[in-house]
Amino acid sequence: MAGDEIEINIFCTKNECRAKIETVSVKKENMMLTSSEKIFCPSCNEDVTEYREITGRSESRDEELNTLPASDYMNL
Ligand SMILES: [Zn+2]
Repeated sequence: MAGDEIEINIFCTKNECRAKIETVSVKKENMMLTSSEKIFCPSCNEDVTEYREITGRSESRDEELNTLPASDYMNL
């Protein structure tokens, strides 16, 4: 659906760190998981390459369940 927002966790890519730096909400149509942007990591105390991972998977799962006929819920 257009205009839907999803949550993305941004991690530090340094092997010795891998800290979660922040969670951002972006519109699905603007989503970029392959980013080479630099972001400041408080753990490393320097700018690092970011790694993005989608967190908001529950929404789409709910949508799938909602398309099931009511009787199918009984068999889950
Ligand atoms: Zn770091």
